[in-house]
Amino acid sequence: MECIFCKIVNNEIPCYKVYETDKVIAFLDINPVSIGHTVIITKKHYKNIIDAPIEEINEIMKAIKQIIHKYTKILNTNNFNIINNSGKIAGQEVEHIHFHIIPRYENDTTEVKTKKGNTEELEKTYKKIKSINN
Ligand code: AMP
Ligand code: ZN
Repeated sequence: MECIFCKIVNNEIPCYKVYETDKVIAFLDINPVSIGHTVIITKKHYKNIIDAPIEEINEIMKAIKQIIHKYTKILNTNNFNIINNSGKIAGQEVEHIHFHIIPRYENDTTEVKTKKGNTEELEKTYKKIKSINN
């Protein structure tokens, strides 16, 4: 198996493991955008949020909640970005589902920005989404 995150799960490559259950594992990102930047993955291999079953995503979410609870105390911040990149165009480089937990600090230089909204475009998108019921 070539997947780098599967190799981490199988202890074939080392990581700074910070959390583990029978379903998920979390470790420090080797190229952190902030102190404490953590990646959480399912132990089973799924490509991304499109193919992972909801039960597995729930396990990730439960773990994120616990990790954040701990980090608020250890890292001394109440500011976090939780990010999932699904698909190449969305910036997914490792094709094994993962969420980023990015602690944020006063005056940090991390860039997680949205663009200013355009009403016309928002309405068009909204109508398109609302026109389909499921
Ligand atoms: P993404 O762009 O969402 O696929 O993010 C993948 C993340 O995994 C990047 O932030 C990498 O720095 C991180 N990463 C890749 N390989 C490892 C590794 N061996 N240990 C820890 N983090 C890793
Ligand atoms: Zn994998």
